[in-house]
Amino acid sequence: MFKLKSPSQQEQILALAMRQIEKLLKEMQNEGKDLSRLKLKKFQKTHHIDCNCKLCEVAKTKNDPRLRGLSEDGFKVYVNGDKKSPQ
Ligand SMILES: [Zn+2]
Repeated sequence: MFKLKSPSQQEQILALAMRQIEKLLKEMQNEGKDLSRLKLKKFQKTHHIDCNCKLCEVAKTKNDPRLRGLSEDGFKVYVNGDKKSPQ
């Protein structure tokens, strides 16, 4: 992962990463892959329902499951309804 940088540097890194992704997708399309139904989805897996860590306790108290602790946090790419694991 990236080391902690200033917000403007983080924005530059994000912009660079997005350009790289766009370039990669364009290359794949040029290779004949159909990416017209490509979807990028934020993927988060929360802790088990019985988890008692601090985050999950807060979520229970506030009755908001979105506050639960995360065991996975990343992105998933879908094409044509195919579910693929994050690479
Ligand atoms: Zn938890």
